[in-house]
Amino acid sequence: VPEGHTLHRLAAALDAALGGAVVTASSPQGRFAAGAALLDGSRLVVTDAHGKHLLVGFAAAQDAERSPGHWLHLHLGLYGTLAIGEGEPPPVRGALRLRLIGEGRGGPRWADLRGPTACELLTEEGVALLRARLGPDPLRADADPQVFVDKASGARTPVGAVLMHQDVIAGVGNIYRAEVLYRAGLDPYTPGREVGVERLQLLWQDQKHLLEVGLRTGRILTTEPEHRTGSSPRGREGDHYVYGRTGMPCRLCGAPIATAQLEARALYWCPHCQAPGAGPPFDRRLAA
Ligand SMILES: [Zn+2]
Repeated sequence: VPEGHTLHRLAAALDAALGGAVVTASSPQGRFAAGAALLDGSRLVVTDAHGKHLLVGFAAAQDAERSPGHWLHLHLGLYGTLAIGEGEPPPVRGALRLRLIGEGRGGPRWADLRGPTACELLTEEGVALLRARLGPDPLRADADPQVFVDKASGARTPVGAVLMHQDVIAGVGNIYRAEVLYRAGLDPYTPGREVGVERLQLLWQDQKHLLEVGLRTGRILTTEPEHRTGSSPRGREGDHYVYGRTGMPCRLCGAPIATAQLEARALYWCPHCQAPGAGPPFDRRLAA
């Protein structure tokens, strides 16, 4: 599942491609035919992301105010993709849920959506309801970290599960939860309410920092440069401390990385660096 930084990148890319454009919308696959018909001929006026959700506002082409009357809500889920390109769109093939074509600021552009978990039209109220269900997204300027701290510090469930709850913190997925807990030296099985407010605040700050790196680079890169080994320009084996490294030696202490299922996804951690009562395994240089 794409994590939050990917959706923010897609929001920016879609805005750069088709922001301000009157679009031709179609659902070649047919499953979003009615929605596409409503969007067809309207103007794409705003793109936004909250956690793993992408929101695209459309206004009537003649509306001088450009106030969105329809919001397209997308969640890519496990298999969804949104491809954006220049010039003529490629020939239609496969299960193409939605195609948008328009004359963007930089010329003709297209966007193809395939395999999303959610593809629906919402009103402004619907968007507000959706966002009210989601926790703060560290990549959003309007995010309130205190909401995260309050919710997480009230949880009886392990912090490794809490981080996956989109109503507690939006945008964190399976890779970031493992990595941010490692960087904090936190045992993933510590109940949320036993983590402590200060460490939760640090967890938020570090998650924000990691998501910002992801937003900038398009990669989930969580290792500090001095801890990257075996990395090649095309390989990504140096990108993570624990994720996907079952049985491999911890980059800092050499202990074999452990794995278990938590929240129906594989959790990875270092039993030594993240033993109960441990602290951060290295000094984190948090981005200012
Ligand atoms: Zn370790």
